[in-house]
Formats: sequence, C-alpha cells, structure tokens
Amino acid sequence: MRNALSVVSECAPLIKTGGLADVAGALPAAMHRQGWHVTTLLPGYPKILAATGDAEAIEHYPSLFGGPARLLSARAAGLDLLILDAPHLYDRGGTIYLDVDGRDWPDNPERFAALSWTAAHYATTAPAATRPAVLHLHDWQAGLTPVYLNELAGTERPGTLFTIHNIGFHGLSDPERLASLRLPRRDFTLEGFEFYGKISALKAGLVFSDKLSTVSPQYAEELMEPEFGMGMDGVLRWRRNDITGILNGIDDTVWNPATDPVITRYKTPRGKARNKARLRRIFGLEPGDGPLAVIITRMTLQKGIDLLLEALSDFLAEGGQIAMLGSGDRRMELAWERAAAGSPSIGVRIGYDEELAHRMMAGGDAILVPSRFEPCGLTQLYGLRYGTIPVVARTGGLSDTVIHANEAAIRAGVATGIQFAPDSVEALRAALRQLSTFYRNEPLWQRLQRNAMAQAVDWDPSARQYAALYEEISATT
Ligand code: ADP
Repeated sequence: MRNALSVVSECAPLIKTGGLADVAGALPAAMHRQGWHVTTLLPGYPKILAATGDAEAIEHYPSLFGGPARLLSARAAGLDLLILDAPHLYDRGGTIYLDVDGRDWPDNPERFAALSWTAAHYATTAPAATRPAVLHLHDWQAGLTPVYLNELAGTERPGTLFTIHNIGFHGLSDPERLASLRLPRRDFTLEGFEFYGKISALKAGLVFSDKLSTVSPQYAEELMEPEFGMGMDGVLRWRRNDITGILNGIDDTVWNPATDPVITRYKTPRGKARNKARLRRIFGLEPGDGPLAVIITRMTLQKGIDLLLEALSDFLAEGGQIAMLGSGDRRMELAWERAAAGSPSIGVRIGYDEELAHRMMAGGDAILVPSRFEPCGLTQLYGLRYGTIPVVARTGGLSDTVIHANEAAIRAGVATGIQFAPDSVEALRAALRQLSTFYRNEPLWQRLQRNAMAQAVDWDPSARQYAALYEEISATT
C-alpha cells in the first residue's frame, strides 16, 4: 500500500458546501481498493475539531501565517485525517469561505496558503513509513502547495496532481502579500502564478503541478476554450498534454435505492411508486398521471434554473409537475417561491436538506439539470442510480454521463436520458416536451429506467484512472 495525501478545503460528511466535498469524502475508500492509502489534510474548522475528539498532535508550529498552530492526526467518518488546528485562521463563525455578511474572509489567501504550506512541509518531513508519494491537490485552496514544495523539498519529492473542480474561483490576492504568503518573488511572472497583476493560487496549481485533471473528459476539452476557461484557458492549452478528464463517481453506501434508510427501498423501478406518492405529499402536489420532475441544486446562474422557469409552462399544462429543492441567490429563491405560489403543479423548498434530496431521487420520475456549464455534476448520477431519468444540458460531465435517447440509442437499447443544447429556453422546452412524450410511452419509459439503473456510476473505474496517474507522477519524481 502506497501513501497519498489529499489536500482539500471540504470533505463529506464532515463539512460540505458542494460536490468537491463528496469527491474528497468518497475517493479515499475507492483508492484503497487500488492499493493507495489516502490521508486527507483539512483545515481545523470548529465542526471538524468537534467531530474528531481524540486527535493526536503530531506537529507544533509556533507561528504559522500569523499565529500558533498544530497538526493533528485523527480518524473520523472512516477517513484518516490530518487536521490543521490554527484557531487564528479557522475558529470563527460564518461559513468556511464567507463571513456572516456573505463576503469572502479577507484573509482567505492566508487561510488556505497555510493549508498548502502545511501539506508541503508534511510531505517533506514525515517519517518514511507515512510520507506521501503523491499529493492530490483540489482547487485553488491547495494551489500553492507545489510552490512551497519547490522551496522546501530536496531531491526527493512527492508527485503532485492538481484537480480542477471549479475554475471560477482563482484564489487571488495583491502582490503586496507575496512576503506574508511566503511566496518567492521570482515566480510572480506570466510563466508563474501572476495573473493580471495579482497572485493566483489557482494558476500556481495549474502551472507547477506535475499533472492536472478535471472531473470529466468533456469539461477537460471545454476548459481550453475561452468560453469556459474563465481566463485560465491559455494556461490549460499550454498544459494540454498533462490534463486528463476523470469522471466523479457516487458513493454507493450513501446513494443506493436498495439500502437507502430514508426511502421506501427498491431494486426495480416499480418500487418508485410509493416514494412518488410520498414526495407529492411532502411538496403539496396533487396526485395525477403526469411525470414528476425534481431539481436539487445550488441556486446560481451556473445551474440554469432561471431558464427552467421560462421553459416550464407547456410541461405543466400537459400534466407535468415540478419539485424543487435549492438555496443560494436570493432573487432566484424568490422567483421560484413566486412560481410555486402561482401554480399548484410546482412545489419548492428553499434550503439545504440531505434527507429530502434522497426522497426526491427516490420519488421523482426525472431529474432536471439545465446547467450553463457543469464540470461533472452529481445529481444526474444519483438520478441514474435511482431510475430517475436525467434531463440534462449537453455540457461538461452531463454530456459524458447521460446517453441521449435519440432513435439510434433507443433502438440499440442503450439510452438513459435526454440531452439538450445548453443555455437555451427553446431547447429546454423541447426537452421537457420529449420527457412528457417518453413518459407516456410505458415500454420505452421502463426501458430507460432499467438502462439508467444498470449504468455503472460507482467510483471504481475512476479510481483506477487516478491510480494510473498517481503511479505515473510518483515514479517520475
Ligand atoms: P456543485 O458542486 O456545483 O454544487 P454537483 O452536482 O457536483 O454541483 O454537487 C452538488 C451536491 O450538493 C450534490 O450532492 C447535491 O445533491 C447536493 N445539493 C445541492 N443543493 C442541495 C440542497 N439544497 N439540499 C441538499 N443537497 C443539495
């Protein structure tokens, strides 16, 4: 068994704001089956420290980016953890990224520079038995790690893999902070981590890591285009030969209709009926013979739920129903609440509710994912697993994971869902029409459901790909 260290700012079930946490939480077990022992390095947020009572201090830092800190070793939720206990950086209210007014913490650059520095320090000083051969770095919060590694490592150093989950956050700070961030001025260049006059932790990760990956093959291509690269497309074209797209999987112990403790469990699509009736009751929707489509999402422009509001009328008029669970942008929340108040066929819950998400997957006929861009997307994967037909925009991981029900795919018996052109109300309207038509064609619908449930959406194929990358970078360094 070889050692790897995953460096990440959130990790399910301990602390989660999005899909990144799901990946960080599920990958270690899957990598274990590939012969890799993955330890996860996390910031010591109060929630993490509370979940890991009996942690052992393995390192003391008298002054780490403005205050004393300790590195703790612990086990929680089936994960081997290293926790950076630095109260001056992490012991506070708000969320893990934002203050109580919803603004980025002003010291976010230092908060995550400290995490990255600790990763590099640990990787170069840990006893041989536990020293990681690979550092797996996630998003900008871990981006500075290879820069610190260049400073701290001797001839022997671990391989570095940087995974892009969200290219939208660049981890920017002013160059005046070079010294306080312990960064070498010589790398503040176009070929280094300089980005339009600022320090970018994301760019540092993209430039200085041995290999790059993102969470779907399609998104890996899209990221090299200006439309999706969010300013990093040039860097990514430059690193074209080092970037791989590896799909996320889902955690079968958490998302499995045969074992899910909060639903009426089922192994075949027939078992969905009782869950559907219950879901209608939860959302105050009348019984009927049309399809019930669900959405579980952060409410942001990325997710395209504004387009959905515009495209819904025909679907509802034909007997379709919508159950929406989400939170985020206040205006979008209000728009959906208004829509629910104006139609008996729309039910809305504003908030974050893990149990309800499971009940929606079990009770829904279809899951709608109209994203403008989507690196991988998880809810369509849960949909496949639960026989809840995904209706998805043809972008990023959505196009890699759903087989569109065109004539050929239907005839070949492989279709699992519906795809439509992204960012188009008309295309979405047509996709919803298709959903209604398919739903009323019972043999076809059952076929889609069976195909969906039979699709492999677990982590093992992806873990094998990560293992191959780990091998490659640990062998060459
Ligand atoms: P992103 O990471 O961009 O938010 P993903 O589809 O990759 O999108 O992952 C979102 C994750 O968060 C999924 O596990 C989804 O079920 C969950 N999620 C999103 N919004 C909610 C919500 N309001 N309540 C419960 N779970 C949610």
